Amino acid sequence: MENLAVTIQIEMAQCDGREVANMSSRTAVLLSSLVLTGLACTASSHATRPATLGVPLSGAAMEAVIDRPGPVEIETVDSADWAVTRAGLIDLDHPTAKAAHLTDGDEPIQVYAHVIRHPTRGIFLVDTGVARAIVDDPARVGVGWLVRKAMHTEKMAIRTDTAALVARQPQPLAGVLLTHLHLDHISGMPDIPHGTPLYAGPGETRERRFMFMFSRSTVDHLLAGQDAVQEYGFAPDASGRFAGVLDLFGDGTVFAISVPGHTAGSVAYVVRTPRGPVLLTGDTCHTRWGWEHDVEPGSFSSDRPRNVASLAALRGLAARHPGLDVRLGHQR
Ligand SMILES: [Zn+2]
Repeated sequence: MENLAVTIQIEMAQCDGREVANMSSRTAVLLSSLVLTGLACTASSHATRPATLGVPLSGAAMEAVIDRPGPVEIETVDSADWAVTRAGLIDLDHPTAKAAHLTDGDEPIQVYAHVIRHPTRGIFLVDTGVARAIVDDPARVGVGWLVRKAMHTEKMAIRTDTAALVARQPQPLAGVLLTHLHLDHISGMPDIPHGTPLYAGPGETRERRFMFMFSRSTVDHLLAGQDAVQEYGFAPDASGRFAGVLDLFGDGTVFAISVPGHTAGSVAYVVRTPRGPVLLTGDTCHTRWGWEHDVEPGSFSSDRPRNVASLAALRGLAARHPGLDVRLGHQR
């Protein structure tokens, strides 16, 4: 218990420089009072700046071109097998989940990295996969004790670690396009060469949540030494279909869609490949069951009503484009 208290004290004291004193003897009482008083912490203190990529356009304009074959290749790589609580991945209180008698327990999932090869703009990763150190030596890369316990990193089985994935690319990465900054999506960051441009949704680092008091120092450690996170400049979608859409390279090949809810700055991507369009949902939907039954994620999401709206927007996109290859956050 003393170890736990000390760890909490250290990790929480790093949050916004707030005074979180006298934790060791009254941890449980303080934790509950912190929840009650709404004390929260930002997701990361890592630097941000406006993105150099992305031209706003309407959802309708994007949809007018996505069914045409495009020049971008995409490879989805299973970086690690993992298992996490189903109640985090699926809203088990949803009437459809109740009717299906879904219960909590370990749900088998994967952690992915998607390799995007653009003919002239280079090679990008969407999310980072998992660095071997996250499983083998988590303390070395700044993964705190509490985070290891909460994430159950011991349940992660690496299939392709990020270093191996980066090493087999024929040229240096041109960037990492993040769906969001949850730890399992930046777990490959220790293997991403410093100086690689990083992109994410607006406000992603500045979202405040109580749970970030425990994860923030780990997020900051994983991002340490990396470039400032470039935040996409979404504009309102004139067609009203999405919270915002960007043509990332201005050539109609790769699009970022603002899908707030799972996190404040969550982003989905549409990629035009020679075999048709591919949608990367990120964690707006983690699971195959959730997608097929129109049930949003559970406790892992920050703002469930907004997550519901964003999931509906992506399901609407898929319904209008039957050829869309939908790749979910954590299951095939
Ligand atoms: Zn997530």
